[in-house]
Amino acid sequence: MEEGHPRENAMLLQGKSGIVFGVANKRSIAYACAQSASAQGATLILTYQNERVEKTVKELADSLPNEAIALPCDVSTEAGLDSAFEKIVDHMPNPHFGVHSIAFAPREELEGRFCDTTREGWNTALDVSAYSFTSLARRMEPLMTEGGSLVTMTYFGSEKVMPHYNVMGPAKAALEASVRYLAADMGPNNIRINAVSAGPIRTLAASGVSGFSQFLDIAREKAPLRRNTSRDEVGDATVFLVSDLSRGVTGTTLWVDCGYHIMAL
Ligand code: NAD
Repeated sequence: MEEGHPRENAMLLQGKSGIVFGVANKRSIAYACAQSASAQGATLILTYQNERVEKTVKELADSLPNEAIALPCDVSTEAGLDSAFEKIVDHMPNPHFGVHSIAFAPREELEGRFCDTTREGWNTALDVSAYSFTSLARRMEPLMTEGGSLVTMTYFGSEKVMPHYNVMGPAKAALEASVRYLAADMGPNNIRINAVSAGPIRTLAASGVSGFSQFLDIAREKAPLRRNTSRDEVGDATVFLVSDLSRGVTGTTLWVDCGYHIMAL
């Protein structure tokens, strides 16, 4: 092993700090990422959308093994992001990584036919679920002075048609394309950008997709590993992507879906 190799450190994120955007409750993939990162020694800021979940997310931050605080961050406006970043910079001027685990589409867009997507529903879904990652990456770039790693969460519905996933399909496709463009822009500053494509997991966001239980049943039956993906598996894969172990990896999507995406039938 070369001298100074990251595996010499027992904890993968010892001495690192990062921001996990999009914790709503204990089922959130963002919280699983926070748990995995904290267990590996990271100091964290967890962000939540609004005061409705503030108390819960503050309690979740307190429950982590390492130092963590919770701050509000609504990504639907530039003003919301600006004010969130003012607070973030006060607490963590030079983060090493960020995890974007945020998506939204109006519930009525996640049932019926895709072709009935409204202009307003499209704009909201693409804005909150895809553009917010670029806007957030642009704000993170100057802070990550030692280089860094940003990860976002995507889903197979970007590539294949999932019943009722509808407008979220194009939103995730836009998000995955943004990962590649951001990686090309920010690579010269040693900032890596990747996505994790998680298998279906029961969460608040998932419950908005009509017939979501079917996604779980079919994935369990067809996936090579013959089970559903767990949130801690997504958290651990995300830790790999924000740690130095993945220092040669950028612009890619890491599938954490028990292999489901390779199956044709
Ligand atoms: P979740 O409901 O726990 O998380 C979604 C988060 O987005 C919530 O914290 C919510 O508050 C936040 N959010 C929505 N609008 C926002 C806004 N305007 N400003 C700030 N935050 C906002 O559900 P989750 O399943 O953990 O979703 C996290 C990510 O994982 C999403 O990108 C989702 O598409 C992705 N994902 C989920 C699954 C799954 O099956 N659950 C699979 C693959 C990918």
